[in-house]
Amino acid sequence: MSKLLPPQLQDLGLRTINPSVFVSSIESKDLGMIHSVNSPIDNKPVAQVHHAPTESTEDTIEASCKAFKHWRNVPAPIRGHLIQDFSHQLRVHKKALAQLITLEVGKLPSEAEGEVQEMIDICEFAVGLSRQLHGLTIASERPDHRLMEQWHPLGPTAIITAFNFPVAVWAWNAALALVCGNSIIWKPSCKAPLCAIACQHILQLSINKFPETPAALSSLIIGDRGVGHALASSPHIPLVSATGSVPMGRSVGTVVAQRLGRSILELGGNNAMIVTANANIDLAARAILFSAVGTAGQRCTSLRRLIVQDSVAFRLLSILKSAYATLNIGDPRELDVLVGPLIDEAAVANHHQAIDSALQQGGKLITPLSHTEAFPDGHYVQPVIMEMPATAPLLQDETFSPILYVLRYTSLDDAIQLHNAVPQGLASSIFTDKLQEAEVFLSATGSDCGIANVNIGTSGAEIGGAFGGEKDTGGGRESGSDSWKNYMRRATNTINFGNDLPLAQGVEFS
Ligand code: NAD
Repeated sequence: MSKLLPPQLQDLGLRTINPSVFVSSIESKDLGMIHSVNSPIDNKPVAQVHHAPTESTEDTIEASCKAFKHWRNVPAPIRGHLIQDFSHQLRVHKKALAQLITLEVGKLPSEAEGEVQEMIDICEFAVGLSRQLHGLTIASERPDHRLMEQWHPLGPTAIITAFNFPVAVWAWNAALALVCGNSIIWKPSCKAPLCAIACQHILQLSINKFPETPAALSSLIIGDRGVGHALASSPHIPLVSATGSVPMGRSVGTVVAQRLGRSILELGGNNAMIVTANANIDLAARAILFSAVGTAGQRCTSLRRLIVQDSVAFRLLSILKSAYATLNIGDPRELDVLVGPLIDEAAVANHHQAIDSALQQGGKLITPLSHTEAFPDGHYVQPVIMEMPATAPLLQDETFSPILYVLRYTSLDDAIQLHNAVPQGLASSIFTDKLQEAEVFLSATGSDCGIANVNIGTSGAEIGGAFGGEKDTGGGRESGSDSWKNYMRRATNTINFGNDLPLAQGVEFS
C-alpha cells in the first residue's frame, strides 16, 4: 500500500489518518455521509471523504454570490495576477498532483502529468486574456453617436465535471471564469473527489496571497448528482458548465433551460477516423493506437470507429493486430505499461457487455479476447478491435472503454456519410495525403463534429482552440479561442454626444 501513497499528498490538502486512509484538510461545518475512495489500480481504499448534503449547496451559493460581488470589481488584469500565481502553484505541485491522478483514476504518469500541464497552459492563456476581454466599437448610423460593446462579469459559475479528466476540465472553466470576473462552484465526479480537493487546495494557496479576495471565490462541493441538480436549478447561478455523459447533459441542460439560464454542455463522443487509400498507413496506425487505447479508451475524444478504405484495410489491420498483441496492460506506474485500469467494476462490466452485444449484432473480433485474470483486483480489460456491419445499432452509442469498431468503405462520400451517421459530434479525423480528400472532410459537407483533424488522431487537443462538439455532444465550447465569451455578459452601449435626438432607422416621433 505504501507504494500507492505519494509523500507530497499532505501538500495537496490531504492528510493521513492512518497509513491507508486520507481525509481532506478542508474543514466543513456540514459534514455529510462518508464515502470510501478506492484506487482502480488495485481496488484498495485510499481515502474516505465526506459527501456534502444537498441542502448545504444553498449556503455555498450564497457565499459565492457575495464573493462575486467583490470579485467583479477587481480589474481584469489584476484578476489575471491570481491566475498567474495559480499557474505557478501548479508547476510546484505538478508531480504530486499527477501522482494523485494516477492513484485515483488510474492514468499513466505521462498522461497524468500532461493533464496538469493542460491546467498550466489554460492558466497562461487566461492570464493573456485578462488584458484582452474587449468588445467592438461599431459605426453608428446616427450623427454624434458612438456604438460599442462591453463584456462584463456574469456571476457565480457552476462547474460539474466527469471522472476521466478530473483536473483539466475544471481548470479550463475555472481559469476562464475567474479571469472573466466570476466566482466558481465545483461539483466534481464522485469517482474523483481527491483530485478535486487537491486542486481546490492549490487554488486556495493563491487566493490566500490576495488578502482582499473572499475565500468563497472558489468553492468545492463533493456530492452526488443531487448537488449537481441543486446547482443547475439555482436562479443565482447564471452559468452551468457541465461535462459528462449525454444523459447527464439532457438532465442538466433541461433544468437550466427551464429557468432560462445559460449552460455549456460538454458531453459524450462517438469519434471516428477515416483512413483513405492515400493515407500514410504507418502514421495512421500510430495515431489509432493512441486514440483508441490511450487512457484505456476513457477519453471523450477516444477513437471508437475506424472507417477504412477497402484497399488499405488489410494492411492497416495487420499493423494494428501486431501492435495490440504487444500492449502491456497493468499497474500504470510500472514501466512499459500502456493500458491502465478502467475506473470501476461497472465500467469493466459495460466493456464486456458491449463486446457481447457487438458479437450478437454481427461483429467479428479482429484481436483476441483474452481475459485479464492477471489482475484479480484492479479494473483491467483487454483492448479489442472488432469489425462491424454498418447497421449494427450499438455503433450509435459511446462505450467508455477500449473497443474499436472497424467499418469499411469504397467511396469517400460513403465514408463521410457513415462518419456522420451517429447522434454525437465531438472529435473526428481523416488520414490522407491527398489535399482534395482532406479539404472535403473539413468542408461544410464533411465531418459534422466540433473537432475535425487531418493526419492526427481524434484525441489530445491543445488548449488554444475552442473545445467541444455538436449534436448530442451538447454544442458547448470551452478552453481557447473566444470561448471566454461564454463566461461573460455582453452589453451594447449607444452614446449620444450631440444636442439632438435622432432615432434609429429614421423614425420620426414629433
Ligand atoms: P457522468 O455523466 O456519469 O457524470 C458527470 C458529472 O455529472 C458527475 O459529476 C456526476 O455526478 C454529474 N451528474 C450525473 N448525472 C447528473 C444529473 N442528472 N444532474 C446533475 N449532475 C449529474 O459522466 P462520467 O462517467 O463521469 O464521465 C464520462 C462521460 O463524460 C463520457 O460520456 C465522456 O464522453 C464524457 N466527457 C465529455 C467531455 C467533453 O468535453 N465533451 C469530457 C470528459 C468526459
